[in-house]
Amino acid sequence: MGGTATRPAQDATRDQETTETVNNADIVSHEPATGAEIWRGKPCNVDEVVDRARRAWPNWAALPLATRIELLRRFANEVRKDADRLAVTIAREVGKPLWEARAEVENVIAKVEVSIRAYAERTSQRKLDSALQGTMAVRHKPHGVLVVLGPYNLPAHLPNAHIVPALIAGNAVIFKPSEKAPATGEMLARCFHRAGISASVMQLAVGGPLEGQDFVAHGGVDGVLFTGSANTGISINRRLAARPDKLVALEMGGNNPIVLWDTPKLTDAAALIVQSAFAGAGQRCTAARRLIVKGAIYDAAIAEVKALADRLIVGAPFDEPAPFMGPMIDNMAADGLTESFLYLLSNGGKAIKHLVRPDDALPFLSPAIIDTTAMKDRPDVELFGPILQVIRVDDFDEAIAEANNTRFGLAASLVGGSPQDYNRFWANVRAGIVNWNRTTTGPSHAAPMGGIGLSGNHRPSGYYAADYCAYPVASGEMEQPRAVIGVGLK
Ligand code: NAD
Repeated sequence: MGGTATRPAQDATRDQETTETVNNADIVSHEPATGAEIWRGKPCNVDEVVDRARRAWPNWAALPLATRIELLRRFANEVRKDADRLAVTIAREVGKPLWEARAEVENVIAKVEVSIRAYAERTSQRKLDSALQGTMAVRHKPHGVLVVLGPYNLPAHLPNAHIVPALIAGNAVIFKPSEKAPATGEMLARCFHRAGISASVMQLAVGGPLEGQDFVAHGGVDGVLFTGSANTGISINRRLAARPDKLVALEMGGNNPIVLWDTPKLTDAAALIVQSAFAGAGQRCTAARRLIVKGAIYDAAIAEVKALADRLIVGAPFDEPAPFMGPMIDNMAADGLTESFLYLLSNGGKAIKHLVRPDDALPFLSPAIIDTTAMKDRPDVELFGPILQVIRVDDFDEAIAEANNTRFGLAASLVGGSPQDYNRFWANVRAGIVNWNRTTTGPSHAAPMGGIGLSGNHRPSGYYAADYCAYPVASGEMEQPRAVIGVGLK
C-alpha cells in the first residue's frame, strides 16, 4: 500500500463529457482475477445502430402483446439452457465468485415472469364506462427506441432489468453493456436472438463512455435507461437539459447507512452488517457504506463485526473453497479505494481493520473497517468497494440524522431496535429502500428499486420498470358523435 492520500472526488456535478466521438480504439475486457484478456472488439457505429433500431421498431410494437410475451419466455428458456456458460463468463469477466454469478443468472431468468406481471398490473388497459359520456380508456404506448446503458457490477441482471420490460412494452432496445463487461453483454444478447427476437429489435452495441454519450444525444433515441454512477447520470441529465421530451431513467449509487441498535442477537446483527458491506466485494449500489452504531453496544458489536470480517475468504471466482468475495473490477478501482482509505486514515479515521492488497499487480482487496466518528468533514461519496466506515452515536435521533447525512438516498437498514424505533426510522430516513433486520443489499423482484437524492431521478426500476417503459394515453371514446351546446347560443 502506498501513495499519497487525496480526498475522494466529491463533485458529483462535474461534467465528464467530451462533445464528439471518433473512436476506433478496440474495446478490451480483462479478467480481474488474472489480468488475462477475455474479449476484444471494435466499438459500434452509433448512427447505424440507431438507424437499424428505428426501422425495426414499428413492426415490433405492432406485434400482439401475447407474441412479445411468448418471445420473452423463450428468451428465459435460452438463458436457462446457457446458464452455466453465462455464469462462468460473468465470473471471469467481473471477478465475482461463481456462486454469486449463478445467482445473477437466476435473476435474469426470473425477471421475465416478474416483468410480465408488472406490465399487466401497472400498465394494463383500463376503461371507465358511462352511458352518457361513452368510455374513458387508459392504454399505454411504447416510447420507441430506448438505449440501455449497463454497469459492470451486475453486468447481465441490471441491463436485463431494463431490457425485458422495455421489450414487453413494445420498444426497440439498444443495449450498450459496460465496456468492462462486453463478453457478458454479447452472450446475453445472443440469448435474445436465439429466442427469435431480432438483432435489430434487441441490438447489442459495444462501446464505452463515448458511444454512451452519442447514444444519449442521438435524435433517433427516444429514451435512456441508465444504471451506473451518479457522475455519469448527472452528465446524461445535463446533456439532455434541452430535450425534456426524452425519457431518462437514472439508477445511480448510494452512500448507504446501516444503523445498529439494541439487540440480544449481536452475532446475527454482525452477519447482516458484513453481508451488507462486503457482498460483491462492496461493488453493489445498495452496499452499506456507513455503520452507525449505538455507543453503549459499540465495543461488543464492533468486535463481532470485525471477527466475522476477518474470516471472509477473498479469492478468485473458481477457487476452492469458494471465496466470499472476489477482486475489484480493475487495478484502477483498487488504487482509488486504497487512496480513499488512506485519505480517511490521515484525516481522523481510526482503522479497525486495514485495507490490504496482497498483490499490487492484481485488484484483490481485503474487507476494511474504519471508525470515522472523529472526522470533521467526512466525504459524502460512494466508495465502491469493501470499505465500511463506522460512526458512533449516543441516541436514536442522532443515528437518524447521521443516516440522512448524505446527498444520496438509495438503501438504509435498521438492525435491532424496537418496532417503535423502526417506525421512527422508516418515517424519517430518506431512501428508496428502507429495511428492518435485513441487509441493505439484495432488493426484491416484487418491489420497486430506486432511490432519491443523487441515487436516482424518481423513476425506480425493479417492479416499477414497467412505468417508464410505456407512457399512458387517455382516450374519451364514443361509437357515434353525440353532442349539443347547452349554453351561450343565440
Ligand atoms: P459508470 O457510470 O461508469 O458506467 C455505466 C454505463 O454508462 C457504462 O455502460 C458506461 O460506458 C456508460 N457511460 C459512462 N460515461 C457515460 C457518459 N458520459 N454518457 C453516457 N454513458 C456513459 O458505472 P459503473 O462503474 O459501470 O457501475 C458502478 C456504478 O453503478 C456505481 O456507482 C453503482 O452504485 C451504480 N449502480 C447503481 C445501481 C442501481 O440500481 N441504483 C445498480 C448497480 C450499480
